[in-house]
Amino acid sequence: MRYISTRNEDISVSPSQAIIQGISRDGGLFVPLNTPKISLEELKDLNYKDLAFEIMSKFFTDFEERELRECIKKAYDDKFDTELIAPLVKLGEDYCLELYHGPTLAFKDMALSILPYLLKQSLKINGENKEVVILTATSGDTGKAALEGFAKVDGIKIIVFFPEEGVSKIQKLQMRTQEGENTYVVGINGNFDDAQGGVKAIFNDKEFVEFLNKNNYILSSANSINIGRLIPQVVYYFYSYLLLVKDNKIQLGDKINFAVPTGNFGNILAAYYAKKMGLPINKLICASNENKVLTDFFDTGIYDKRRELILTSSPSMDILISSNLERLLYHLDEEKEKLTALCMEQLSDVGFYKIDKDILGDFYAGYSSEEEVADTIKKVYKRFNYLLDTHTAVAYNVSEKYKKEYKEEDIETIIVSTASPYKFPASVASSIGLDIRDRDEFELIDILSKETNIAIPKAIKNLKEKKIIHNHNCNKEDMRRMIEKFLKVGGNND
Ligand SMILES: *Cc1c(COP(=O)(O)O)cnc(C)c1O
Repeated sequence: MRYISTRNEDISVSPSQAIIQGISRDGGLFVPLNTPKISLEELKDLNYKDLAFEIMSKFFTDFEERELRECIKKAYDDKFDTELIAPLVKLGEDYCLELYHGPTLAFKDMALSILPYLLKQSLKINGENKEVVILTATSGDTGKAALEGFAKVDGIKIIVFFPEEGVSKIQKLQMRTQEGENTYVVGINGNFDDAQGGVKAIFNDKEFVEFLNKNNYILSSANSINIGRLIPQVVYYFYSYLLLVKDNKIQLGDKINFAVPTGNFGNILAAYYAKKMGLPINKLICASNENKVLTDFFDTGIYDKRRELILTSSPSMDILISSNLERLLYHLDEEKEKLTALCMEQLSDVGFYKIDKDILGDFYAGYSSEEEVADTIKKVYKRFNYLLDTHTAVAYNVSEKYKKEYKEEDIETIIVSTASPYKFPASVASSIGLDIRDRDEFELIDILSKETNIAIPKAIKNLKEKKIIHNHNCNKEDMRRMIEKFLKVGGNND
């Protein structure tokens, strides 16, 4: 298996090299040259780890079987609070795939618990001796999940930039209290696109990258642009489908829908890969919050980032530039990289691009207003005594809109649940009518659990006692200087 750049098919690397580099040197993203097909029949009775092996081994072909199995074993162990890893819960007519049972209570753990092991193995395969520096921009959940995954992994340092405006208090605290000598956390004065844009610019800054190489460092990324994050996410789409088969809710081969709350288009792109591999998916329901660039794109073919970013109750989806959409463009278009490169150039130069929307048929897109998110949380709680987090509520609501429009009575829908409701206690508590005035988030967590009888996850309970370790803050222009400071290179070692 080779990986090529979305912007230039002549750039081709091995799986382990794609994992190390994170992003292609021309600014494109690595995509698998062809999609491996898989027979569902063979996968039917596998547990999460064995299924993960069957799927990942098709993409990471330069890993030895023993090595890849070892990575999987270390990733999906008892840091998840259920042996199922990703349990499926029935909610009325629908199912909720809970991807938040890992150490940071968000679905990012599904991939970031394995990426460090994949990366270490990739370095070994390539005989790479330089120290790796993981640079990550986060809208809240990636940062903590990456810190948790990479903390104390020797030979790797991790630097996380998060937007001061636009992550929840719990998320901020989770990051600022991260332990591990090899971890660095910086608040950026700005929003997520500022943080992500800054990190992307650093990756594209040949001079700076060269300078770090000379100092024996190589840069890599833990963002969902890394193929080492995307592929592990394909697994749970197969897994949840097969759980429905095992439970006799569907027959092998029946088509189902997935509703995915979407920001950077990583999670739903993994579902699209699952479909390309042979998973019978009817529609991929792409759910956005009020930052509905993707909804508009799927409706019109025009991707237009020229709008204000709105800070919503689902901060991990407050994004105007959905990086992984570039991969979808690449896969959909016959002209391949020519169109993708052109679109990305236009997006960067004038802020928008247009494609023929008829090629987007695998997807349905919709968005939820803040009011609809709150109403959805309340309604689902009343009806099923089940708490949705704000992101999952977006997907639930959009999936309802889809069903109203399409009325496909015999097609099951899985709603992908991406975070624990306790990660966003203020929004969730106020949605179900609790008084949140003058209460901090920890008080709200207690109130919420008393009211609902839903257990507080351990990772949140422990947070209160933790010490703040990281206090750094900077403007987006100063990100390079912060990196130099942490790595003790260049003229700014103060
Ligand atoms: C990151 C995140 C999302 C969005 O996922 P993408 O892969 O960026 O589309 C949704 N919900 C939560 C809780 C997240 O952390």
